[in-house]
Amino acid sequence: MKLGRRGFYAVLLAAGFVLTGNAGAAAEDETAGIDVTVQATGAAAQDADTGVQVADETQNQIPHALTPYQTENFELWDNDPTRAFQMMAAEYRQGLTPGNYQNSRQALYNLDGRFSRVTMVVGHIDGERDGSAVLYVYKDGELAQTVNLSSDMMTQKLELDTTGVKQLRLDQTGSDAAYGFANVMGYGGHNFVAEMSQVVSVFSDGAYTYTCKDCGYSYGETIPEQTECVPYLTPYQTTNLYSLEETEDTLDCFYVMGKAYYKGVIPDNYQSTREALYNLGQKYNSVTFTVGHHDNERTGSAVLRVFGDGNLMKELELTRDMMNQTVTINTVGVTQMKISYEGSDSNYAIFDMSYESVETWEHNFTKEVLLEATVGQTGICTYTCVNCGACYTEIIPAVDD
Ligand SMILES: [Zn+2]
Ligand SMILES: [Zn+2]
Repeated sequence: MKLGRRGFYAVLLAAGFVLTGNAGAAAEDETAGIDVTVQATGAAAQDADTGVQVADETQNQIPHALTPYQTENFELWDNDPTRAFQMMAAEYRQGLTPGNYQNSRQALYNLDGRFSRVTMVVGHIDGERDGSAVLYVYKDGELAQTVNLSSDMMTQKLELDTTGVKQLRLDQTGSDAAYGFANVMGYGGHNFVAEMSQVVSVFSDGAYTYTCKDCGYSYGETIPEQTECVPYLTPYQTTNLYSLEETEDTLDCFYVMGKAYYKGVIPDNYQSTREALYNLGQKYNSVTFTVGHHDNERTGSAVLRVFGDGNLMKELELTRDMMNQTVTINTVGVTQMKISYEGSDSNYAIFDMSYESVETWEHNFTKEVLLEATVGQTGICTYTCVNCGACYTEIIPAVDD
């Protein structure tokens, strides 16, 4: 039995899942109720209850190349064998160099608390602009290290303890300066790529396999069958925002901190005011959502406000280098919730909407025939819930002669 493409992605949507991981971010999805089954291979093992990496010394020595999820005024080097940059006559193919000669540049990495150590080589790029500069290293928004850079410096290796660190931020200031950050490597964690091995449906569990593209370590994850109907909370009206649930294109997604999201709202233009209105109808006790900067999009800051029936319930400042913020609003007795943010030239996404509701839903399936049954040949049809997107497939018996 094979699912059509559409059914396949409907399942992805329903599970709130990601196809490919980035910097280990996909390995531990926040989706509630996911069982982590462990198939420890090689040196590392994964703790089933916490998802925390249990790694031994050997595992800690394997370098994992780190790719930033967002950069500003940097050029990315991704181990392309055909090109290299040079520092003290040594060639490097991975890391960051200036993308231009602006005064400030920034690179953000989502470590997701998975890498215990990060190392990189810092130096001046041979024969390039010779202004001096300063590198500021931030761990989860806290300044951790300052490095002065000059054109006659010797290439040096930076070693950072990143135990528990979610976001690593490199800020560099200094105009007319050409410094490289090479071989940016994480240790003690993995760069997982997710693969769906079993499609989840209303009647059967789904399964994912996560495999590290650098060292091959892998583990499996089970997604429980979708017995409950839990519709995603979608706005009934938006202003200067685009709601991904509205789109027919189920491959449409946006990235925040390197992770793909298939549901949520993002700006569809660069007006200063954006609004999403939700009809809660006094049936929701609370609403929880996450807000973050849309990767590599406009960098202006903004202020997010949440209103319940016109009353301000929450105010939050949004910046381009922010870490994702999860907001929970008490919405007991609230009819209309408004999420708005103000700030020109800015681009923030609102996603992972969940709620506590007094209302219960039931699956309401619509049937679609993917393959008509013919004489001697079975057909396939899918049933998709109009409320939540859960689905299952059925074999249509062959037509009798
Ligand atoms: Zn690995
Ligand atoms: Zn449903």
